[in-house]
Amino acid sequence: MRTSNMLIPTLKENPADAEVISHQLLIRAGMVRKLAQGVYSYLPLGWRVMNKVSGIIREEMDRAGCQEVMLPIVQPSELWQESGRWDVYGKELMRFQDRHGKDFCLGPTHEEVITDIVRREVSSYKQLPMNLYQIQNKYRDERRPRFGLMRSREFLMKDGYSFDMDDEGLQRSYKEMHDAYSRIFTRCGLTFRPVEADSGAIGGSSTHEFMVIAETGEAQIVFCDTCDYAANTEQAKIRLEEPSGEAMLPVEKVHTPDQKTIAAVASYLSLPTEKTIKALLFRAIYADREELVCAFVRGDRTANAVKLQNALEALALEMDPGEELLEAHGINPGYVGPMGLSGVRVVIDEELTRMRNLCCGANEEDHHLLNVNHGRDYEGDVIADIREATQGDPCPRCPGQLQAARGIEVGQVFKLGTKYSESMGATYLDVNGKTKPMVMGCYGIGVGRTMAACIEQNNDDYGMIWPTAIAPFQVVVMPANHKKADQMAVAESLYKELLDGGCDVLLDDSAERTGVKFANADLIGYPVRVTAGKSLADGLVEIKVRKTGEVSEVALADVVRTVRTLLMDL
Ligand code: ATP
Ligand code: MG
Repeated sequence: MRTSNMLIPTLKENPADAEVISHQLLIRAGMVRKLAQGVYSYLPLGWRVMNKVSGIIREEMDRAGCQEVMLPIVQPSELWQESGRWDVYGKELMRFQDRHGKDFCLGPTHEEVITDIVRREVSSYKQLPMNLYQIQNKYRDERRPRFGLMRSREFLMKDGYSFDMDDEGLQRSYKEMHDAYSRIFTRCGLTFRPVEADSGAIGGSSTHEFMVIAETGEAQIVFCDTCDYAANTEQAKIRLEEPSGEAMLPVEKVHTPDQKTIAAVASYLSLPTEKTIKALLFRAIYADREELVCAFVRGDRTANAVKLQNALEALALEMDPGEELLEAHGINPGYVGPMGLSGVRVVIDEELTRMRNLCCGANEEDHHLLNVNHGRDYEGDVIADIREATQGDPCPRCPGQLQAARGIEVGQVFKLGTKYSESMGATYLDVNGKTKPMVMGCYGIGVGRTMAACIEQNNDDYGMIWPTAIAPFQVVVMPANHKKADQMAVAESLYKELLDGGCDVLLDDSAERTGVKFANADLIGYPVRVTAGKSLADGLVEIKVRKTGEVSEVALADVVRTVRTLLMDL
């Protein structure tokens, strides 16, 4: 390809609405353009990268014995009614009606559609196991579409589904996909970590997310400094201490004027924050009602909203319950405590039940209670693990300590079990002619998010630095000065030689100044740049490696060999 007939609209300035580096660079390098909030067009260079990521995914899926299909984006509501998700998926599901008033949605995921196909077409154990996948646009009306391709409303996803005879089969399929995902992200040049995760709206029992470690990641993860435990904080456990052997002391009410935060109360009463109980207020939303929820955790901790939502089996959780709701329940947020609290849903973190003689709000202006103990002084409606793991907490698996990091979730694998096969009747006949539900797994990778995550991990002040495997082009060849006939002729012939040598090469034959061409090449981040310039007089061209900035002069005859060797290491 030649830049003279390509659409590569690079920009000098960062777009005003781009907060993260991948979004800024994708726009500046002319790889994507925004059409609407969370909806993007991919221009030629961006689409080449997307296709290379998809290509790697296809190779690894095919290698693992999966078959590619293409399912409809438009899905009838009946299927979602059958699985029970039409009413619980919420506002993220983009719903519409056809001219006859029938309900449809744009697929945010395809468990329903694939289960429908398989229940119709597969009936015998002889056809199992089976693993089907597709690479296709998904639609989710995200609450906060942002960060460009990272969280968009239309995005390309590889989604795959495995069907097995039994649990043992599912374990095998799951491991196979886990391994394939590790190979895919390694080949894409990413530094990543599989972590234990929450299964969210998809459902099922066990699940791992593949996290690309990056400051800009929206997910918070923890991993042990000693063993291989790693988890999303939506799921991460913290080792529980043994129950305290302290004797229970009598409850005492103390005057704490204007001391409304844990830090203020602890310092006013000269107590360590670990000896206090923190109250957190939420509004839990259910299909038929809303509830004011008061969650209690150790004073130096916070509650994780996803853990709490799961413990409450709520459809959603609002962080801010709103003044009105608090007033209606007579709640004074600065002085809430679990003892004597009524009329609201009370959730107690399991850790509190093992501790003794804690300080908490007295449910009375300007007062706190000392020596409050679970069992004797309060019970709570739900006792669950709702505390958020953080840096320095004890590992649940070994004596090590947890480290905290941010991550971008690029993929997730789920063991679904029989959730969909049972609700939708996807059964098979086993060897003995007995009807059994198929045991399912599902597996997703965000193609655009993977591309963006790669940029987050590989960039510098000048632009992107692509790993060879997914670079828009591996090599760019250019004359330093397009007006010099000898330079142009050499660039042309090297371009053809590199093409013949199997390189993925672009010829920059544009009428730009050298500085502009160099800046664009750095911005777009081709792994290798070959420039025919002044040293042609000595039979040499310049080769620059984008990643290291290393520049060398190479004899014309050695260019193809040198470039190919360099590309193998990048
Ligand atoms: P998140 O928690 O980030 O909202 P999710 O867990 O809902 O994502 P999955 O249903 O597991 O997403 O989808 C599989 C993959 O699709 C994710 O791992 C991610 O790479 C990608 N993905 C999900 N939502 C988006 C989105 N809004 N924009 C771009 N990619 C997405
Ligand atoms: Mg996910």
